[in-house]
Amino acid sequence: MQTWFAKKASAACPPPPRDRSGIRIGIPKVLNIWSTHQFWVGFLRNIGIAPENIVFSSDTSEEQGREFGKGRGTVDCCYPVKAMSGHYGELLFGLKNKIHIILSPMIYSLPSFMRGHVSETLACTRVMAGPENIRAGFMKESDVFADNGVQYASPFVNMAEPEMVSKQMYDCLKDVLNLDMAETQRAVDAGYKALREFNQKARAETRKILEWCAREGKPCVLVLARPYHMDPGIGHEIESDLQAHGYPIVWLQYLPIDDDLLGWIFRDELQAKQIRSPLDISDVWTSSNSSNTNEILWGAKFAARFPWITCVLRLSSYECGMDQPTYTPTQKIVEATGTLFFKFGDLDSTKPTGSIRIRIETIVHYLGKYSNKIIQKKLALLHPDCPLLANHEEETASAASNGK
Ligand code: SF4
Repeated sequence: MQTWFAKKASAACPPPPRDRSGIRIGIPKVLNIWSTHQFWVGFLRNIGIAPENIVFSSDTSEEQGREFGKGRGTVDCCYPVKAMSGHYGELLFGLKNKIHIILSPMIYSLPSFMRGHVSETLACTRVMAGPENIRAGFMKESDVFADNGVQYASPFVNMAEPEMVSKQMYDCLKDVLNLDMAETQRAVDAGYKALREFNQKARAETRKILEWCAREGKPCVLVLARPYHMDPGIGHEIESDLQAHGYPIVWLQYLPIDDDLLGWIFRDELQAKQIRSPLDISDVWTSSNSSNTNEILWGAKFAARFPWITCVLRLSSYECGMDQPTYTPTQKIVEATGTLFFKFGDLDSTKPTGSIRIRIETIVHYLGKYSNKIIQKKLALLHPDCPLLANHEEETASAASNGK
């Protein structure tokens, strides 16, 4: 009778992971790995890969491409894809401690915060196909992976649909990592949890910056770009040059999406039923299929309304066909409220330092001259109950009453 209620060991205590502590895995730090890295780290750690054995390639650089990617180029002309050869080569030839596996996922769709508010959250087709494309460059004369004793694993993943991912990861990795389905499922859950927690933390940090701007009446700058423009070799750290002039920088990927804040900036449109939710972009972009494009359009709407974002930096890479149709809409959305808009397009491997410096000086000049006016103009378009100032107003009131 007692045994009926006893917990079965297999259900209550999952078996410990097989010993994988000696396996080293290299991940090319490219494309949408920039927005999903915590998933991959969470997954690998959960199956017993030691943190020090999860190795990302370095930031993109001309030297990396020259030293490790030379002669491996394939047909793609988009710069962030082309640059992947250097990352693959670095993991194969450039590490002191050799890796056993290269993990380079083919990401079909993304777990965007806008999912459910847009038609789809697909990755760019070049992001999806990039790993296969670049792998071909290392298989032309011989299998360079096998020659170097490295296994190549490239799971095709619908990251927007977690229920599909366990099977996809299991199918690709079961033999490479000796996985069973139950532990794959647990590791996928751990990956999503790690990604969720990282994103929440990053959004909370951005909120603190925006709160500071609101409290102090200071302007900040929003970067509208794809996640991989955070890579200094892809985005050329243009935003860092601006930050050095004292303007806080925030990235659209980590803007806070708390109900109180979004309810405040989109209140009138929600009440007028012009949009279904604060993350709805159907008023400005009807074919909302591409995840990163959707987020860029939404970021433009946020920037246009949020008073203390007085300037937007729009970054885009050489030969990016996905960005072409977004240039005019994003500029029009941002400038509709007088917010400053500066575009750096066609970024590639070279950094024309002189011309970037001159443009930064121009941006700094306009920020200094117009930010206060822009803040006041945008504040006048919103209701006075800014949630970012709520605590500040309470503190000021209590300090005043204490001083009486
Ligand atoms: S979105 Fe543009 S830059 Fe990114 S992979 Fe696609 S074509 Fe290349």
